[in-house]
Amino acid sequence: MNTKEIMSKLQAKYPGESEYLQAVQEVLESVEEVYNQHPEFEKAKIVERMVEPDRIFTFRVTWIDDAGEVQTNTGYRVQFNSAIGPYKGGLRFHRAVTPSMLKFLGFEQTFKNALTTLPMGGAKGGSDFDPVGKSNDEIMRFCQAFMTELWQCIGPDQDIPAGDVGVGGREIGYLYGMYKKLAREYNTGVLTGKGSTWGGSILRPEATGYGALYFTQNLLHKAGKDIAGCKLAISGFGNVAWGACKKATELGAKVIAISGPDGVCHIPDGIDAEMIDYMLDMRASNRNRVEDMATRFPEKAQFTAGKKAWSVACDIALPCAFQNELSADDAAELKANGCWCCCEVSNMGCQPDAIKYFQHNGVLFAPGKAVNAGGVATSGLEMTQNASHISWSGEEVDQKLHFIMKSIHEQCVKYGTQPDGSIDYVKGANIAGFMKVATAMLEQGII
Ligand code: GLU
Repeated sequence: MNTKEIMSKLQAKYPGESEYLQAVQEVLESVEEVYNQHPEFEKAKIVERMVEPDRIFTFRVTWIDDAGEVQTNTGYRVQFNSAIGPYKGGLRFHRAVTPSMLKFLGFEQTFKNALTTLPMGGAKGGSDFDPVGKSNDEIMRFCQAFMTELWQCIGPDQDIPAGDVGVGGREIGYLYGMYKKLAREYNTGVLTGKGSTWGGSILRPEATGYGALYFTQNLLHKAGKDIAGCKLAISGFGNVAWGACKKATELGAKVIAISGPDGVCHIPDGIDAEMIDYMLDMRASNRNRVEDMATRFPEKAQFTAGKKAWSVACDIALPCAFQNELSADDAAELKANGCWCCCEVSNMGCQPDAIKYFQHNGVLFAPGKAVNAGGVATSGLEMTQNASHISWSGEEVDQKLHFIMKSIHEQCVKYGTQPDGSIDYVKGANIAGFMKVATAMLEQGII
């Protein structure tokens, strides 16, 4: 396999799909050496098959807004790879959603899910519907309309969607309500992230953020450091950032910045329980403004318009918002201000040059597909609970999540340890995920 050759073919075939090409390039660069030690992979053209999604569904979603106007959006489900289990991955509602974005996310999901130790294939879906400024009723009508098409593509042994940006517990509820009506079955196993009274995992809302902090703890432990007392800068204020703030604070770290599309809130004494709770109101309001935190708690938080979380001096940066949200300039600013670790929580949150900057300048770095895998792992646990009609307590799920994050970290160390003893977490995560999926594809023949 030759990464350059495969990439130039893909670039010619999918011009303009920059995020998808970026995700593929990172994985291919990481696995090339190992791949070339396995002539059986080359013979079965594993890489050429792995970079193409199994299928993509595209559908029209028409709904009526509060003003009585008819609105039309486009819905998608990208079923990427089912070598190790049924398709699994979130739904993203965001105005910038395109098939290319969902292809990159579905590709990443395939490797992430392989890292979780659970049997789940990779998928992603969503719509260019923009939740910003929408009322609760509009969200409900959109979710219902979206499901009238999606329900034909999914099933508990086929494809199990969940939340992602713009899709949380409320949206999963509305989606499930319509699924149940259409399918005429109470089949909870068809979606994860459900309410805890109707088949949801009690810890799913917190799981991505909690898992990210458990991974960070493992990484710091390996580097001989401790999270207690560290200052953390976090981007975003959605579900993931909320869980990360909760766990970080509980572990004795101080979250001194959170950010949004409008700017950053600096919280010199660290975010507290009251402020963490308020993040939920901020998300539910669909205003998409972090300034609301400073307006609500003027004595604790100062808002600066147009600035990112990366402008605030910290020890550890946790991007928790959107892809490519941290550039090489941001990485340099973080380093100059004393930051020595970045654990990417958002999918592909750091631009390739930012990752290179961190790696070449002694900043510990771990990629999203390892750090944020606790979310989908807990979804996998929710699937197990639904299939066996059992419910685990929060403590039981938390214990399993601890174990899974430790195991993901171990896989990164196993495949990412370099001759000089340092750990390349990007390589480690990619090779570990790849080997699992590639082996399964090989064993299942040419399909
Ligand atoms: N959207 C989340 C992710 O990026 C969760 C997916 C799931 O739980 O299926 O992994």
